[in-house]
Amino acid sequence: MDMQTSFLDRLFESGLLIDTGVDGLYGRSGQFEDVISGFERLIGQYGGADGAEAMRFPPGMNRALFEKSGYMKSFPQLAGTVHSFCGSELDHMSLLQCIDAGEEWTKGQEATDIVLTPAACYPLYPTVAKRGPLPNAGALFDLQSYCFRHEPSKDPARQQLFRMREYVCMGTEDHVTAFRQLWMDRGVEMMSKLGLDVVIDVANDPFFGRAGKMMVNNQRDQNLKFELLIPVTSSAKPTACMSFNYHQDSFGQKWGLALEDGSVAHTACVGFGLERIALALFAHHGLEVETWPIAVREALWA
Ligand code: 5GP
Ligand code: ZN
Repeated sequence: MDMQTSFLDRLFESGLLIDTGVDGLYGRSGQFEDVISGFERLIGQYGGADGAEAMRFPPGMNRALFEKSGYMKSFPQLAGTVHSFCGSELDHMSLLQCIDAGEEWTKGQEATDIVLTPAACYPLYPTVAKRGPLPNAGALFDLQSYCFRHEPSKDPARQQLFRMREYVCMGTEDHVTAFRQLWMDRGVEMMSKLGLDVVIDVANDPFFGRAGKMMVNNQRDQNLKFELLIPVTSSAKPTACMSFNYHQDSFGQKWGLALEDGSVAHTACVGFGLERIALALFAHHGLEVETWPIAVREALWA
């Protein structure tokens, strides 16, 4: 059995994660959630005084805006769409017959106006663009959302529905790149308080297909994405628990985000993978929270 499967089994046995029968779709125990809320409090200790505007969107977003975002161009393999039954009574009868016969029944389902949110910041850009120009001094937002990515796996750190906490900064190039650097430094300090070993490395998003290779190279060459990596199931291949993304003015252009002086806004976002951070803590300090070092417990809950 590999390390990922055995860690997943131990998480199920301890009750921290709850098996649903689908890889990457898990319930979480109260204890697991306490770790996540403790970590979110710690985030607040670092970022709370920055004056970010908090917004919470549901885990589904407007399909038309998702289409405009270009997600299907870059990551079609990860997207999840919400479909519903929209048929007649006759259609309903044949649907039930299909289910009874164990046949494929979902083909007649029709797309709704909702798709599953792929990253916490996706619903934000069009929302902010609608408000009109941003102050020249920039703007800061605090987000958290369940996100969906279709990548079933036995690795407990790769889930299909997981929570992402994000700070998103909009403003000039200097402003948003300084914001990104600030959170790289804070991220390292936070994880060190939690007794976790980290490295920060340049990274890329999983762009689809042959055209995607160019996007990957471009992103890496320009240092547009960094990840904070922590060993969860492997020290040779540590897991990305935070990401630090500089979008240049691409979202500013796409969504029409402008500053009051008329220039196009640059944007950057910093994302915390909340389940991954909790899993890193359980992998490193053990499955019994009571036995964790006092300094770690204090950092989360004191
Ligand atoms: P990104 O948008 O950089 O891919 O994701 C932001 C953060 O979300 C990542 O650094 C990671 O911590 C978390 N994340 C990304 N994919 C997954 C996943 O499949 N499962 C879980 N649990 N977290 C993920
Ligand atoms: Zn983001």
